[in-house]
Amino acid sequence: MQQLVDLLTAHGLDALWVTSPENVRYLSGFSSPKDGTVLLHRDGLLLYTDSRYIDQAKEECSIPQHIARDADVLAHARPLLEGKVVGFEADALTVKKLQALDALQATQLVPTVGLLEGTRAIKTPEEVEKIRKAQHIADEGLKHVLPMLKPGVREIDVALELELFMRKNGAEDRSFDIIVAGGHRSAMPHGTASERPLEDGDLVTIDWGATFQGYHSDCTRAFPVGEISTQLKELYRHTRTALNLALEAVRPGMMTCDLDHIARGYLDSVGLGQYFLHSLGHGVGLAVHELPRMFKFRPEMSQYNVPLQAGMIITIEPGLYISGVGGVRLEELVLVTESGAEVLSHAPFAEV
Ligand code: ZN
Ligand code: ZN
Repeated sequence: MQQLVDLLTAHGLDALWVTSPENVRYLSGFSSPKDGTVLLHRDGLLLYTDSRYIDQAKEECSIPQHIARDADVLAHARPLLEGKVVGFEADALTVKKLQALDALQATQLVPTVGLLEGTRAIKTPEEVEKIRKAQHIADEGLKHVLPMLKPGVREIDVALELELFMRKNGAEDRSFDIIVAGGHRSAMPHGTASERPLEDGDLVTIDWGATFQGYHSDCTRAFPVGEISTQLKELYRHTRTALNLALEAVRPGMMTCDLDHIARGYLDSVGLGQYFLHSLGHGVGLAVHELPRMFKFRPEMSQYNVPLQAGMIITIEPGLYISGVGGVRLEELVLVTESGAEVLSHAPFAEV
């Protein structure tokens, strides 16, 4: 709690009106956070939700709850907010709800972005265990579908079987729409599974994850179907080298843009940098994409170029995409530790 009060102080706030579902869950433990709001004030935390969730909120939440309909929430919060400087989450509040807040007397409303996201970037040991579990379910899922990667099997059938396996084995959900992309579709970094049947010569990208108790995993592998071209083999090997170079470099204190540069610099050095179309990676937690960001430095983004810290969970995911030829991405889920890094993903790699 002291850390949260310090956060308010640092931003000149008396309270924060928290509506982002991930942040509501983070502060309260409530597993239906889309139907909840948390008021963070100097004396504590309070969850607002409605009467559908009386028992659930009691069971799940570590903080006090107030059950009220939308219209009555502000009547309850009024004495805590009036005359105060109150932050709201600019990227997670509807105009209608902002107008309702604005009707409070003498409350100074301040838009904020990313306040709790910075705190969330460093995981507690309990959060690490949940992500570890999510990734373990995902690893087992991939092993389960590997025998399906044969000519004639549709991408969507691989994705559905993978999802079904993960759900049956403890996942609440998939982390995002599973990507299974073969042939020319592997050149699309986000080619979600289609009805296209796999063909001999495909290098199939699979990017998938599971959620466990609200926490996500994220991992990518690529597998050849039959014999693949020399060009695709080269792309695969260079991507794997870029991945390994970045993995070996992870340690606390390293700037996130410098980590990106290790992989990008290698791909540049072999003449392939122009085909690395996205950032090296991102934090993973209650959201599948969260802080920190590993990206190619740009001055206007310099506030996101931060030192890695022990307890961060990040992805490292170099990829190469050549339109009309195909592509490959390899992604590991990594915990930054005091001494370096621990790779949390253990799904097998293809030997290409
Ligand atoms: Zn991914
Ligand atoms: Zn990712």
